Amino acid sequence: MATQRILDFIATRRPAGPCLVVDLDIVEDNFRAFRKALPDSSIFYAVKANPAPEILRLLASLGSSFDCASVAEIEMALDAGATPNRISFGNTIKKERDVAAAHALGVSLFAVDCVEEVEKVARAAPGARVFCRVLTDGEGAEWPLSRKFGCVPAMAIDVLTHARDLGLVATGVSFHVGSQQCDTEAWDKALADAAMVFGQLAERGIVLTLVNMGGGFPTRYLKDVPSAQAYGRSIFAALRRHFGNKIPETIIEPGRGMVGDAGVIKAEVVLVSKKSVEDKNRWVYLDIGKFGGLAETMDEAIRYPIVTARDHDRMEPCVIAGPTCDSADVLYEKTPYPLPISLTVGDEVLIEGTGAYTTTYSAVAFNGFEPLRSYVI
Ligand SMILES: *Cc1c(COP(=O)(O)O)cnc(C)c1O
Repeated sequence: MATQRILDFIATRRPAGPCLVVDLDIVEDNFRAFRKALPDSSIFYAVKANPAPEILRLLASLGSSFDCASVAEIEMALDAGATPNRISFGNTIKKERDVAAAHALGVSLFAVDCVEEVEKVARAAPGARVFCRVLTDGEGAEWPLSRKFGCVPAMAIDVLTHARDLGLVATGVSFHVGSQQCDTEAWDKALADAAMVFGQLAERGIVLTLVNMGGGFPTRYLKDVPSAQAYGRSIFAALRRHFGNKIPETIIEPGRGMVGDAGVIKAEVVLVSKKSVEDKNRWVYLDIGKFGGLAETMDEAIRYPIVTARDHDRMEPCVIAGPTCDSADVLYEKTPYPLPISLTVGDEVLIEGTGAYTTTYSAVAFNGFEPLRSYVI
């Protein structure tokens, strides 16, 4: 996970303070693996996972498209070399003036999940293509997406009909099966729903052409995960099952799976202590916590591999916490984390699999701690 290039960078540059180091070679490998696994799908990288300009430029040069959630993300993708026809405004919750701004920049593909949003898009981006997001149950995902986005498939039929009536191009259906989705079969049910919407709308004379199959592809943390190839096989089989020999144009939007394993955070032990003489677990405080970029430890959902130079010593479970004065800034407590008993103040630790959803989650300066620094090499 920590590549030799990353280890050499940390060893020779000795960057001060906690920082993320991303190896672009791994991002490129991941892009090629997705392309090979799903050769007929377009890849729209979910920019929010890690919007570092070097990553966006690399992906643009490899032919990636981009899933953006705001005008700022659209501008970043354009700056990186993407053309507007390779950008989707994939957020279902948009201000009308942001839809107008995206339209003015040439973006013409928008996500919606209700008639109210369709009306905004029809006013601010007349003639645009829209796809309707449907709910999924998120089962099997380690970072599920709740009910915030999407509508039930039956409502998608009305939403897309309304879009057509307002002069938009009703293009298709999207869904997201939940992030860090470790079940390769999770796409099956959502594709069945999408095929149902396609069929019902065809009866109304509306021919949909696109299924946006979202993200969800995992990063390896402590446990093995299926390969991109395994996801590709399973998804292709589900497309065949539900669309027969009329498979539509498809999109995938990997975020975590594109950059997660390309990054390592270098951090430092600030304190090791106990709460009482009898305390079974040591508390290990690092110079990075929930507000410094490790927000996905919320509910201990994502359990990152942590590597130290003392891992050959005996391990004992620890509570791991961040450096801020917020009592929520505890990373692992319900399930304590084994760390070497010899671990001590000043030791460096490497937190692996941190290329996605870290820099973007770090606070501006909570308690005066600066945002997570990032180096892309
Ligand atoms: C966040 C997001 C993604 C990326 O999800 P991952 O689980 O990181 O692959 C894809 N599509 C949309 C619409 C998103 O909001």
